[in-house]
Amino acid sequence: MRIGIGHDTHRLQPGGPLRLGGVDIPHDREMIGYSDADVLLHAITDALLGAVALGDIGQMFPESDPLNQGRDSAEMLRAALNDVLALGWRIANLDCIVFAQRPKLLTHRQTIRERLAAILDLEIERIGLQAKTGESIGIIGREEAISAQCVVLLQQKKEE
Ligand SMILES: [Zn+2]
Repeated sequence: MRIGIGHDTHRLQPGGPLRLGGVDIPHDREMIGYSDADVLLHAITDALLGAVALGDIGQMFPESDPLNQGRDSAEMLRAALNDVLALGWRIANLDCIVFAQRPKLLTHRQTIRERLAAILDLEIERIGLQAKTGESIGIIGREEAISAQCVVLLQQKKEE
């Protein structure tokens, strides 16, 4: 088995919608980044790459490459997953935490989990998603940024 961890933070600016976990959530702020700034998908991508020691998302999709500007993070996550699968691993489960003062993610949790299941071609029961506020302090609480963390466990694929 292998375990990987990913963490990411993106700044917020007025606008919307908020792209999170591959889902566009109606909101009055949006995240800033070179790609589509999907902080949750970036944390999952880094967890996958970390588990197989393949570096991180910045190495795989450098900002120096104009092709990566505005890039769909779901596409980047699929690319990382394909590398993991090619090495003979499959995802046992993943558990994620999103740190956001607003919006309330409870109502969007199921939608995001379904989207993650589709992107990762994985049963939804294997995808944990928790949400935390910033307790109204710090960069999260002041709604200056949103962060995400992800832990992923990989199992070796059985020989068929
Ligand atoms: Zn990011």
